[in-house]
Amino acid sequence: MRKKITILRLDHRIERDKRITTHVALAARAFGADNIIITGDYDEKVLKSIEKVVKNWGGDFKVEYKENWKQVIQEFKKRNAVVVHLTMYGLPMQQIIRDIRMANTERELLIVVGGPKVEKDMFYLADYNVAVTNQPHSEVSALAVFLDWLHEGKEQEKEFKNAKLKIIPQKQGKKVIRKKNAD
Ligand code: SAM
Repeated sequence: MRKKITILRLDHRIERDKRITTHVALAARAFGADNIIITGDYDEKVLKSIEKVVKNWGGDFKVEYKENWKQVIQEFKKRNAVVVHLTMYGLPMQQIIRDIRMANTERELLIVVGGPKVEKDMFYLADYNVAVTNQPHSEVSALAVFLDWLHEGKEQEKEFKNAKLKIIPQKQGKKVIRKKNAD
């Protein structure tokens, strides 16, 4: 897996996006990203709900809020990160995923997903504009599929350390091991 993978979620709206932004973060964590930066409205409830999932389900996924998305990208570029923007207008993922996988694995990866309207500048700041099909769907599905292709499915075996809740897979029914201090 890569050195470090950060997701940048653009333009969160406190009224309309609390579920979808939380789901972007949960997909990011489950599919092998290390952290997420949320821009747009500051929304403490979303930050806390993601932190609660990490506390219960383990791992060290981090969430933070930053006001200025362009500044975030500039900081990553200064650190020589590879910037990928997921957009249905980009080049098909299956054509360029190998290049992205091969791009020096010592470099950090910043994966940007949009909100309601993505500014034109984003398309020029990205090293790769990547389409997960050229059909409209959502930031959650685009991110999950992209991360799975990036890791070639290996993220599915990731262990989440210090979990208070752990599922024991069952053919039928539900089995969860629960430590005493789980929320
Ligand atoms: N209308 C917006 C725009 O200006 O691009 C897109 C809104 S879409 C609901 C929200 C985000 O989902 C996009 O910014 C993109 O990150 C992601 N997305 C949706 N469909 C996609 C696709 N086919 N490929 C890659 N990303 C996609």
